[in-house]
Amino acid sequence: MQGLIIKSTGSWYQVQSPDGQKTDCRIKGKFRIKGITTTNPLAVGDVVDFEMEPDQETGVITNLHQRRNYIIRKSINLSKQGQIIAANLDQAILVVTLASPRTSLGFIDRFLVTAEAYDIPARLIFNKLDLFSDEGLEVLADYKAIYEKVGYPCYEVSALEGTNIEQVQELIKDKVTLFSGHSGVGKSSLINVLLPDLDLRTHQVSDWSDKGMHTTTFAEMFELPHGGFIIDTPGIRELGVIDIEKQELSHFFPEMRERMHDCRFHNCRHINEPGCAVLAALEDGEIELSRYESYLSIYNGNDTRA
Ligand code: GDP
Ligand code: ZN
Repeated sequence: MQGLIIKSTGSWYQVQSPDGQKTDCRIKGKFRIKGITTTNPLAVGDVVDFEMEPDQETGVITNLHQRRNYIIRKSINLSKQGQIIAANLDQAILVVTLASPRTSLGFIDRFLVTAEAYDIPARLIFNKLDLFSDEGLEVLADYKAIYEKVGYPCYEVSALEGTNIEQVQELIKDKVTLFSGHSGVGKSSLINVLLPDLDLRTHQVSDWSDKGMHTTTFAEMFELPHGGFIIDTPGIRELGVIDIEKQELSHFFPEMRERMHDCRFHNCRHINEPGCAVLAALEDGEIELSRYESYLSIYNGNDTRA
């Protein structure tokens, strides 16, 4: 039987069959991922094959279908160790606010680079529209212009007042979506509007006690009323930072990626090289200065997460 992992505790996985039936499953055998030792080899979003145990109540996962993408949390000290957080994501949404709290452009860019590196389409949702003054709306228009120009769809909503929520509902319908963002930007409020039956702030993350499998939920996918899933991962509401090789970094800026084959040197760093197509586009105003500054900042290893 085939199913989708919708919840993971590390030792048990809840698998949803196409007919909606949910089965608690264990793993049999080894599921290895090249180059990385994982403490928890399967994750929410994984498509697996499973068989029922003789008790007909629980199951055993026997096979993992190939992943389109996955996000991983690496342990800080052991770079070869990590935990798969979620797989087969259709999109990652960063919830952004321009005030209380203000999300910096550097933080947005770092999120987008990470999503590019994971090969997950990214979108931005500007929340708290109800708080914007005329001046704020101008800043919003500037921000949106920066990101729409390089291909990231932007939405403006108010979770509080319900403004433009239908656009977000349309965006996430039938998709697997990860929500991310600084604490305080209104992720929980937004998810509560999209999934009124679920209150993430009070949601129990260790609720399998009825079966004697009381463990902390590692990650969970919540099914949307009109199809699709939202992924919520306790602990990493922000898409994890991953190691990116310096010479790869420009690949994760779409506006640099599309120009850098015109650089004179194939190993151009786009910093001060003659004949650099990226610097030329920056000069012409085709590449946004703030985006280029984020490139430099990440390239130089500065932390722009604040
Ligand atoms: P989270 O930390 O990202 O999950 O943020 P919360 O959903 O807990 O929201 C943080 C605060 O922002 C709460 O006081 C919310 O009531 C408030 N908030 C959320 N969305 C909006 C919004 O659209 N407009 C306004 N004015 N406040 C909001
Ligand atoms: Zn260059």
